Amino acid sequence: MSNPYFPKQIFIDKKSLHFPLTEKILERTSHIPTEIIENAQDLISDFGAKRDPLLLGKQTLLITQQRGVFVKPCPCTPGYIGCNYFIINTDLNCPLDCTYCILQNYLDNPLITVHVNTENLWHQMDLFLSRHRHHIIRIGTGELGDSLVLDHLTDRSKEMLGYFKEKKNVLFELKTKTTNIANVLESPPSETIIIAWSLNSARIAQEEERGAPSVAERLEAAHSVMKRGYRVAFHFDPIIRYPGWEEGYAEVVDQMLTKIETQKIAWISLGSLRFPPPLKEVILKRFPQSRILYEELIRGKDGKFRYFKPLRIELYRNFVKFLGKAIRDIPVYFCMESGDVWKKVLKKEPKGKEEVETYLSLPFGDSR
Ligand code: SF4
Repeated sequence: MSNPYFPKQIFIDKKSLHFPLTEKILERTSHIPTEIIENAQDLISDFGAKRDPLLLGKQTLLITQQRGVFVKPCPCTPGYIGCNYFIINTDLNCPLDCTYCILQNYLDNPLITVHVNTENLWHQMDLFLSRHRHHIIRIGTGELGDSLVLDHLTDRSKEMLGYFKEKKNVLFELKTKTTNIANVLESPPSETIIIAWSLNSARIAQEEERGAPSVAERLEAAHSVMKRGYRVAFHFDPIIRYPGWEEGYAEVVDQMLTKIETQKIAWISLGSLRFPPPLKEVILKRFPQSRILYEELIRGKDGKFRYFKPLRIELYRNFVKFLGKAIRDIPVYFCMESGDVWKKVLKKEPKGKEEVETYLSLPFGDSR
């Protein structure tokens, strides 16, 4: 999103009015109509009944509190190898509008939702980290929304980076498609903090990632963050087949390697298009012109649609080829793939998620 996001309307759960984060957001959005509501759940149900709840939800901000847990294990899919990642659920949903976005089907709440009870977050985080103090933890935001897309309204990244830079056994990652990096550039870097971009071929970015900055703009932002002293990471996910995909992905990998020093890349993940069956209907309805459903997809072990395994292996082998010698310096891993795919493409087969976690944390562990 080249222009910063502002909602068209804001709803504030009455019990969340006096939190400092609520006051900050309202100060920065004083030109936007606001309404105080008694019950956030009623509002969510009302939105669910509207004609296009997803589109309306993206235009609407809900300020409320997280009543459950902020920190959860990343819900990797059964039957595939995970990476022992933990996610922090501060904000939900995303004003960008990628055709393949899993959130269209995953969340019952379509509104852009900011949880303002940050004291509870830090309390839960302290407890969580004290339980895991004897090994390295990989944790991040960006699973249920983009880590930085609301940052000009919330300053969330500033607080997060301040908290995690003191935690020596935690690799903390922010994941974004945006160039909303002002707060990151203002915050002191640390070896344990990684700022990651989701990348795709220029064509997929343009046609399937509505509202997101171009690949060149994302790489420019990553370059600035690297120059500031941070390590960066890249997620090529979802990789999508289309006529000319080899050239498209070769080009973006080349642009990445030209712009970013390989020693500054903490990791790269690869994941091919996959989604639960109900998302197909949503994509057909909301994005009838999208081409992501053109290639044949089969049901995987987890019931999700994905490319037939030999096609996935072909995609990934090409990425290894595009990366060339750089692959010696950068840990590359798969998001939700089978041991067989690991073995055939990367010549290693992790026994489980702990082994993947060790592989990704090792350069960090060695350098401490
Ligand atoms: S940036 Fe991520 S969270 Fe936002 S719409 Fe795209 S896929 Fe969904």
